[in-house]
Amino acid sequence: MDFSFTDEQREIGESVLDLCEAKLNGNVFEDDETGTFSREKWNACARFGLPGLPVPEVYGGLGQNMLTTALAVEKLGYGCRDEGLVFSLCAHMLTCIIPLCRFGTEDQKEKYLPGLCNGEIIGGNGITEADAGSDTSSITTKAVRDKDVFLVSGAKIFVTNGPVAGLLVIYARHPGGMKMLDISALLVETGIPGFSIGQVFKKMGLRTSAMSEVVLDGCRVPVKNLLGRERMGMNVFNHSMLWERIIMAAYHVGAMEWQYESALGYAGLRKQFGRKIVKFGGVSDRLVDMKIRCETARLLLYKTCWDYDNGKADAAGASMLKLVASEARIKNSLDAVQIFGAYGYLKESHAEKELRDSVAATIYSGTSEIQRRIIAEQIGGGL
Ligand SMILES: Cc1cc2nc3c(=O)[nH]c(=O)nc-3n(C[C@H](O)[C@H](O)[C@H](O)COP(=O)(O)OP(=O)(O)OC[C@H]3O[C@@H](n4cnc5c(N)ncnc54)[C@H](O)[C@@H]3O)c2cc1C
Repeated sequence: MDFSFTDEQREIGESVLDLCEAKLNGNVFEDDETGTFSREKWNACARFGLPGLPVPEVYGGLGQNMLTTALAVEKLGYGCRDEGLVFSLCAHMLTCIIPLCRFGTEDQKEKYLPGLCNGEIIGGNGITEADAGSDTSSITTKAVRDKDVFLVSGAKIFVTNGPVAGLLVIYARHPGGMKMLDISALLVETGIPGFSIGQVFKKMGLRTSAMSEVVLDGCRVPVKNLLGRERMGMNVFNHSMLWERIIMAAYHVGAMEWQYESALGYAGLRKQFGRKIVKFGGVSDRLVDMKIRCETARLLLYKTCWDYDNGKADAAGASMLKLVASEARIKNSLDAVQIFGAYGYLKESHAEKELRDSVAATIYSGTSEIQRRIIAEQIGGGL
C-alpha cells in the first residue's frame, strides 16, 4: 500500500481548502442560530464539482475514485465550519447520487445525474420511519404495483435535505414476501401529487442541514423509477451505507484535524499560573489523545478506501471505520471544549458548535451499537 497522494489528488485537496476559505465560512453562527440552509454556499460547492466527485464525467461528474472523494471531503471537513452544509452535501452524494450511479438504468442516470452534479436538484433518501429506525427491515411504507406505476403510501422521518430536495430514494415494501426481501428502492420526484413535507425538525447540531418528515399519500411512481431490481432495495441501501460510513468518516477526520490544531493554538497562547496551559500535562495529554484518535481514524480511512478502490469492498471494515471515527469525533469535541475552558462553552464559540455538530455522528448511518453488531456478524467466531 502506497500512502502518497498524486499531484492531482493534492491539487483537488488544496482547491477544496481555497473554496472553503473563499465561499463557505460566512455567517456560520448566524445560519446555525436560525437553522438556515444556504443555497448560495450549496451552489458554490456544486460549481466546484463536489457533489459529482465520484460520478463518471459523461454524466457531469469528476470521475474520481473513493480515495480521492474521501480526500476532498476530508479537506471540506477541515476547511468548512458550516458543518450542516457538509452534512447535506454528503447526504446528497452518498444516499442519492451513489446508489443512482451504481444501480441506475442508463435513462435514469442521463435524466437525473447531471442536475444532481450541478446542484440544481438536491437529493437525499428516506428509509427511517417512526417505528423503524435501526431495524430498517420493518419499514411499512407500501409500494403496490398498478400496471406501469407503484402506488406509494407511508411516512418517512429524519430525512436529511427533505424540505429542499427534488429527488429522494425512497425505500418501500411490496405486499407479501419476506421482511428483507420485499423492499424496493424508488426514485421519487418530490413535486408529484401526493408527496408532501410533514414536520420540519429542529436539531441540536448540524442545524443548517434541513431535515423533515416526508409523507407519500398514494404517490404514483413510475415503474421505470425503480432503482435496481424489484425487491432488491436492501442491496441498494447497503451499497449506499457502505459509501456513507466511509465518506462521512473522511469528514470527521478533517474536522478532528481542525479541532486539534485550533485547541493546540489556543493552549499555546492561554496562560494560567504564569505558564502557557499547553505546558501542563493535563492539557498536553488531552491534545496527544486528540491527535492519536484523529490519526488512527485517518489511517483506517485511507486503508478502507484503498481496499474499496482495489475491489475489496468490506462491510465490516466500513463499520469499524465508522465506529472509530464517529466515537473519536465526539471525544475530541469534548476535549476541545475542556481545553478552551468556559470560552469553549459559550455560544458562538467553535468548540461549542462543533460539539453539538458531532453528537449525531454515532446515530446516523447506523448507531454505534448497530456497527458493533455488523462487525460481530462479519468477523464471526460465535460473537
Ligand atoms: C442527523 C441525522 C440525520 C439523519 N438522516 C437520515 C436520512 O437522511 N434518511 C433516513 O432515512 N434516516 C436518517 N436519519 C435516521 C437515522 O438513520 C436513525 O436515527 C438511526 O438509524 C437510528 O434509528 P432511531 O433513531 O430510530 O433509533 P433506534 O433504532 O430506536 O435506537 C435507539 C437506541 O437503541 C439502540 N438499539 C436499537 N437496536 C439495537 C440492537 N439490535 N442492539 C443494540 N442496540 C440497539 C440504538 O443503538 C440506540 O442507541 C438521520 C438521523 C440523524 C440523527
